[in-house]
Amino acid sequence: MSLLLGVVADDYTGASDLANALTRNGLSTIQTIGVPADLDLPEVDAIVVALKSRSIEPAAAVEKSVDAASWMRGRGAEHILFKICSTFDSTDQGNIGPVTDALAALTGESVALVNPSFPENKRTVYQGHLFVGDRPLNESPLKDHPLNPMHDADLVRVLGRQSRRPVGLIDLQTVAAGKDSIERRRAVLASQGVGTAIIDAITEAELEIIGRVAVGTRLSVGASGIGIGLARAYVADGRAKGTKSAASTGIGGPAVCLAGSCSRATLAQIEEAKAVMPVLPLDVEDVLSLGSAVEKAIAWAGERLPSGPVLIASSADADTVGRIQSRHGRERAGHAIEAAMAALAEAMVARGVRRLVIAGGETSGAVVDRLGLKAFLIGPEIAPGVPALFTVGDGPAMGLALKSGNFGGPNFFADALKIIA
Ligand code: ADP
Repeated sequence: MSLLLGVVADDYTGASDLANALTRNGLSTIQTIGVPADLDLPEVDAIVVALKSRSIEPAAAVEKSVDAASWMRGRGAEHILFKICSTFDSTDQGNIGPVTDALAALTGESVALVNPSFPENKRTVYQGHLFVGDRPLNESPLKDHPLNPMHDADLVRVLGRQSRRPVGLIDLQTVAAGKDSIERRRAVLASQGVGTAIIDAITEAELEIIGRVAVGTRLSVGASGIGIGLARAYVADGRAKGTKSAASTGIGGPAVCLAGSCSRATLAQIEEAKAVMPVLPLDVEDVLSLGSAVEKAIAWAGERLPSGPVLIASSADADTVGRIQSRHGRERAGHAIEAAMAALAEAMVARGVRRLVIAGGETSGAVVDRLGLKAFLIGPEIAPGVPALFTVGDGPAMGLALKSGNFGGPNFFADALKIIA
């Protein structure tokens, strides 16, 4: 049996979030970092290709997205989901419209369904308008987003400005009336030359109906909500192989935790970890003045690893971070510390470490890129939204947890190591 669902995700964390949602809802899922060349992948229901294409030039986003979709269609994917942010992050130039247009041309889909709802996170769509909690998108904090300020909640208009073909609306009433009613509306829109349709959903019940329609089409666009709808539809019609074939644990060997996140949750998790493992605060000033802090940390970990897991953390409270940033520059400090964490991870892996728990979104990205990891099978959930990840393909088998910002409970590090055993 071949691949059912191919997902093109426009950023890394969104990709993990969606891969986790698919797995939780019954699809065996692999997440890849870009399109992995010559990688032997196991049979799964879904592949999620993580790109960094949300805020790049539209032409580059189109090229990367079409490459990823073509690769998954070549592996048998019947349906392509273009995973975007649940707050529809984009500008009048794109990239949601241009990428959707290109994927519609590739798949030959006439009226692709578009719905960014994620009811669990209070993102809903009504009459084509996106709400964040009880506010329309243009009154939510997204109006001040540094890269993609959202000044219009009417997604028919927003997507219309970015698209070559007209954008239609399939309203809540039509959705609530069921699959046939949506199909009839799609046919009308198709006869009007509409290329995509914003479709309303305010609860998972609508997303399930949308999923049942979408599995019969070749392209949809949305966030984790539509992914849940698609996954449940594949399970309901008996086509999903399911998570039985999903990742198993049993990696074993030494384990290292690295924390670069300075979020309040991570700082509390580091405090808790002190009760169960040695914790080394990385000397950030020394890292930034090109001292030997990284080498010292490697030696420190090397001595302790035979007795159990260790945690190395650059994390600091807001005042300290502010001081460091004003002295060294926000970007320079951030990148240099991420690079130090990536170097630490690389040195640990060279010393036989196969279990890594990383706190921090950017920090995780830096580590994954440095280690050259290409694909993960999504394993059990450690905390809501944070799955255990198991490498597939070349290289030694590794288990990882990659957590951004405020995710996870107080015992996150110990919890992660229990699951990635
Ligand atoms: P989060 O998921 O919490 O946003 P990230 O890893 O994405 O975490 O971002 C944290 C950023 O803060 C990274 O760029 C990291 O290098 C940087 N950082 C980590 N420790 C410090 C510190 N002590 N001072 C300044 N910046 C830091």
